[in-house]
Amino acid sequence: MTRYVGAAEMADLLRREGPEPILRRIMACLRADFLRWPEFDLAPRLASHSAGGVIELMPIADAQLYAFKFVNGHPGNTRLGKQTVVAFGLLADVATGYPLLICEMSVLTALRTAATSALAASVLARPDSRSMALIGTGAQAEFQAIAFQRTHGIGEIRLYDIDPAAVAKARANLEGRGLRLICAGSIAEAVAGADIVTTATADKARATILTPGLVEPGQHLNAIGGDCPGKTELHPKIVASARTFVEYEPQTRVEGELQQMPTDHPVTELWRVLRGDAPGRVSRDEITLFDSVGFALEDFSALRCLWEIAGSGPGLDLVPETEDPKDLFGSVFSRGQTLERAA
Ligand code: NAD
Repeated sequence: MTRYVGAAEMADLLRREGPEPILRRIMACLRADFLRWPEFDLAPRLASHSAGGVIELMPIADAQLYAFKFVNGHPGNTRLGKQTVVAFGLLADVATGYPLLICEMSVLTALRTAATSALAASVLARPDSRSMALIGTGAQAEFQAIAFQRTHGIGEIRLYDIDPAAVAKARANLEGRGLRLICAGSIAEAVAGADIVTTATADKARATILTPGLVEPGQHLNAIGGDCPGKTELHPKIVASARTFVEYEPQTRVEGELQQMPTDHPVTELWRVLRGDAPGRVSRDEITLFDSVGFALEDFSALRCLWEIAGSGPGLDLVPETEDPKDLFGSVFSRGQTLERAA
């Protein structure tokens, strides 16, 4: 049987363990996998674009495990009562090709994205950062807030969204978790004086959520919403003025804020900073930008971490049971019965 973790089991697991320990474990897996980056078979994701959004397949493998994620991005979905991003993923054994785990990844994507954001901030944000502006308070927002609170000591979150109901939702969900929550009246109000600015908006457009006058020296920008061709959040002048860090350069050049920049705009891949091969933040006043689009390695780390956490449990019979591996036909039709029926 292939271990199956569906949405209900994922929710049970999070309620039982709490989001913080799971975020920490995903971060540890992420760090370990980023540190062994050259061991992976890397490729940009395969994207199928349509008028309303995108459907993507994200494959990756090392010598032991193969993973892929199916994920969409449909910013108009919430108007239909559906989520912008839904996902599921699979982990397989490289030696045999057999699937090991099939897993819901809508929640797991929010967790791994938040864990990746916090991991990047650990080398890019000022160590004494205490406040974060969160622009776009949809599905990803609470996961981002909790990850930054628990791993980076962020105590104050300034929430802003064009949809007041989304702000009220995030505030209600985060209440009682030891955060000082401020509902800002504008993006400018949220960003002024914040140490970290996370942009998590969804719009299939060249949006300018942040314009140059808003960004202050020393801020770390965690831009996660611009993750698809024709979908950006930052004014190009901000990207030009910030030191830019990416997950996997070939993918981010096409999908990230970088798509607005000349093809030789300098960037550093995060794994190099984590390994100590390239500097992260070098001064208090520089603006750092994590131009995050989401990369397959993060899903691989999250899936292998979840596989460990979930342990044994329900499975799906994705692979037919055969006594003789060459007798696939016989696993479906018993010989005598088939002949009787035919007769
Ligand atoms: P969502 O639709 O649940 O939330 C997006 C929010 O952005 C909504 O509440 C919407 O009202 C708000 N918004 C839209 N335009 C805005 C504007 N101009 N100013 C302020 N708020 C605005 O989507 P989500 O699941 O939270 O995802 C947010 C974004 O992050 C999406 O673009 C998604 O594709 C992206 N994402 C990236 C990664 C990654 O790894 N980088 C992972 C997951 C999601």
